[in-house]
Amino acid sequence: MNLLYLCFFNLLERSMKRIRLKDKEFELFIPEKEVLAAIERIAGEIKEDMKDKNPLFVGVLNGAFMFIADLMRMLDGSYELTFARYSSYKGTASTGTIQEILPLHPTDVEGRTVVLLEDIVDSGFTMSYVMNKLREQGAAEVKLATMLFKPAALKCDLKPDYIGIKIPNEFIVGYGLDYDEMGRAYRDIYKIVNN
Ligand code: 5GP
Ligand code: MG
Repeated sequence: MNLLYLCFFNLLERSMKRIRLKDKEFELFIPEKEVLAAIERIAGEIKEDMKDKNPLFVGVLNGAFMFIADLMRMLDGSYELTFARYSSYKGTASTGTIQEILPLHPTDVEGRTVVLLEDIVDSGFTMSYVMNKLREQGAAEVKLATMLFKPAALKCDLKPDYIGIKIPNEFIVGYGLDYDEMGRAYRDIYKIVNN
C-alpha cells in the first residue's frame, strides 16, 4: 500500500512540475540530486584513473557547463581545464554535420591524456568526430565522460569511458541543456511531453 502511495505521489510530482519553453512542454524527469549523485560516482572513477597522469580536461560548451562545474568541484585537485565548442543540433534533432565553433589547438593536446566532458551523447557523431580529430592531432589518449547517454540513439562506434545516467531516446532540457537556447538554467532535468 505504501509503495502504491509513493508511486502515486512520484507520478503526481512529475506531472505537476512542468515547464514550457517556446512551443514545447516538458515534465520533470531527473531531479538535481540524482544528477549530482551520478556525477559524484564518475568523479571518483576519474580521480582513481587519473591519479598517475597529467590529464587535460576539455569541457564541451555550451550544454555541459553545469556538468563541468560540478564535476571539477568534486575532483577538487590541481587539474588543467580548457573549453571547446561544437555544434550539431538544431531544435530537437541532430543534424549530423559538425561545426567547430571553438576548436582546440593541436599544440594543446599533443602527447596529452585528454578527458572530454560532454553533456549528452545522442547519435554519437559529435564525440566520435572530436575524439578522432584529437587522436589525429597527437593526443596520447582520449577519454570521454558524459553526464547523460542515450544508448538507443547511438549511430556510431563510440563507447563513453564514464557515463553519468543512461536515458531512453527522449529529448531533454535543463541542467545546462537547451531547447533553442532556452531552459539551460533549470537545476533539474525535464523531458519533452509528446501530445
Ligand atoms: P550527437 O552528435 O551525439 O547526436 O549529439 C550531441 C549533442 O547534441 C549534445 O552534445 C547535445 O548538445 C545535443 N543533444 C543531444 N541530445 C539532446 C537532448 O535530448 N536535449 C538537448 N537539449 N540536446 C541534446
Ligand atoms: Mg554537448
